[in-house]
Amino acid sequence: MSGSGSEESQPSQEAEDRQQEAEQDWAAAKAFYDNLVTKRPRPPKPQNAITVAVSSRALFNLVEEQRIYEEQGLEKYVEYQQNNENVTLKPGPAFYFVKALEHVNGRLLELYPDDEERFDIVLMTNNHAQVGVRLINSINHYGLTIERFCMTGGESPIGYLTAYLTNLYLSANSEKVQEAIEAGIASATMFTASKDVSYSDTQLRVAFDGDAVIFSDESEQIVKEQGLDRFFEHEQLHENKPLAQGPLKGFLEDLGKLQKKFYAKNERLNCPIRTYLVTARSAASSGARVLKTLRSWGLEIDEALFLAGAPKGPILVKIRPHIFFDDQMFHIEGAQKLGTIAAHVPYGVAQKYRKST
Ligand SMILES: [Mg+2]
Repeated sequence: MSGSGSEESQPSQEAEDRQQEAEQDWAAAKAFYDNLVTKRPRPPKPQNAITVAVSSRALFNLVEEQRIYEEQGLEKYVEYQQNNENVTLKPGPAFYFVKALEHVNGRLLELYPDDEERFDIVLMTNNHAQVGVRLINSINHYGLTIERFCMTGGESPIGYLTAYLTNLYLSANSEKVQEAIEAGIASATMFTASKDVSYSDTQLRVAFDGDAVIFSDESEQIVKEQGLDRFFEHEQLHENKPLAQGPLKGFLEDLGKLQKKFYAKNERLNCPIRTYLVTARSAASSGARVLKTLRSWGLEIDEALFLAGAPKGPILVKIRPHIFFDDQMFHIEGAQKLGTIAAHVPYGVAQKYRKST
């Protein structure tokens, strides 16, 4: 992962041809759909969209169904889903986040009716196609706009995630998330929430941890290997050297890009997206490098909270984010206990060490 882009090589003739062919396909598809009259907004082209792929177990609560699958096997599971086709599924951990993304889309379409730069939600599921009807019924029940489904039948989703130029992938399956992270796709594992709390329905709130989430884990390695004092020293010494980017930097950047579209229409005070950095770093001793790194990337974060090692759960209760990303299970569990929807980013040195700072 590198932010410079200097490693990009000249595209080959073959790649150029493929690109041209793909452009022609999109133009043909667009021409076809332009002749059809519909009140629904058409899903945007992946190149323009911020594609968020969610699994069915992230979008809906399928705990009971998963139990049937594990205890009684695929046939019984499919039969159960078909018999309950008209029973609406309950919201899962990514549900309110997806709802908030769609609220942002609505606001964008009001301001920019002809623009395709908005979120596109893709359902990425390894479910049997027969289960699709229940998923579609539930999606329609809640009025969600999810037109793209990938039913992978148990195959790895990586190829589809790449084909859709996925900007964020959320799944309840930690192995698939790990695989996606290794393929360079921003992803996180979601867990069923222990409490049902209410979330803002007019503002999407996204909270990020810093090290090993927005930033690389280079400084975290020093904490783990050489202790906190050496880490403070190191961060002060390298205050002016930007940190390398972490797996979720791109998604923060995507959110920033959309925020600017609201600012351009004089909607800064009424912006439906708010971002938060919630880090265990201390402001005075290790905060400057983080803020200077964000500045060097040209990224604004709305609120930066330096907790100096204090637990993250209580502050997250005040923020009420639709999603909070962290690389350490320790922080995820703490946040979840107090009712925050937390998503685990399996990246960096913390995966080797359990439960530490
Ligand atoms: Mg971290």
